[in-house]
Amino acid sequence: MNGRIVCAACEAVDPEIVVIGGLRRTSCPSCHHSQRVDIEPFDYTNFAMGGTGLAPERLAAQADFIATRLQDGARALEIGCAAGDLAQALHQRRHFATYDGVEFSPARESAATRLNNVFNAPLETLLASGAIAAASYDLVLSSHCLEHLDDPSAMIAAMRLALKPEGLLFAETPNRSGHSRLPFDDNRSHIHFFGVSSLTRLLARHGFEVIAAETGARLDARYSDSLRTLAKIHAAPAPDAMLLSNHPLVTGVDRVVVWGAGRMVEEMLEHYFDSSRIDFFIDKDARKHGTLRLGRPVRGPEELQKGSNWTLLVNSLEMEAPIRADIDKNFSGRVGRVIGIGELLQ
Ligand SMILES: [Zn+2]
Repeated sequence: MNGRIVCAACEAVDPEIVVIGGLRRTSCPSCHHSQRVDIEPFDYTNFAMGGTGLAPERLAAQADFIATRLQDGARALEIGCAAGDLAQALHQRRHFATYDGVEFSPARESAATRLNNVFNAPLETLLASGAIAAASYDLVLSSHCLEHLDDPSAMIAAMRLALKPEGLLFAETPNRSGHSRLPFDDNRSHIHFFGVSSLTRLLARHGFEVIAAETGARLDARYSDSLRTLAKIHAAPAPDAMLLSNHPLVTGVDRVVVWGAGRMVEEMLEHYFDSSRIDFFIDKDARKHGTLRLGRPVRGPEELQKGSNWTLLVNSLEMEAPIRADIDKNFSGRVGRVIGIGELLQ
């Protein structure tokens, strides 16, 4: 290797070097990634990356992890799809508009019977030729593939190109050595040894935010501790004034009365509840009476006596039980329905 060594995960320059089995590898002090410096040639002719770990319970756990966070009708692309076993397990859980794969080994012949299209070229090439369109997939997957690559960063970059802006990236690798009792992994086909910090760092560098992660995922006896992640392209946070006010519990209700003019007004309602749907606030603190919150007046509980069939939103988690007891005791004839803010968060 010429020149300086750069950590493939975090781009730290000249990470520490350790020697295992006579071969040098890095030990990055910044992100704890390890990557081989001395790489033995490995014959991939008949080796399918991602082709191990075919126990039904393993495939089910992997497919469940993805499917619970995926809508029906997705377009999926699996890098290193091997014989298509994960694809098959996912098809049992979700409907896919298309499920394509990339596989170089002869396993692609089996995969071709289970997937829509199985490509036999690097993803970068497929994107450059137009065989795969940019921003065309809802889900891109790579299971036990990144650790075999010279340049996993280039692969993540290509996967991002293939992904729609709202899409999901699934990546699974051994977690560190891949086994909780083994201090290192000397699988000669593995060039990279990821951990939680280095895989999330690599993904973050390409704009991905990990939204779900799991360690201890069992591939097989040797790799019983695998690291499973789902990530999406990070977006700056934006308020959504309809998020809670669109909840089914309050649809069809013209205006609600909010009981509680405390800090949850700014922390929750201002960001996530349409204030035009608030009639007025109730608070027992007389110092707040006559003031405005979110442009709506704050009044005392006795205001409820001036009407009937109110829909009340209890805007407190800590005080919800005593507020409900107060309503039951003093205003039950005046109140149609009581909804807790916690219910809107479910
Ligand atoms: Zn690093």
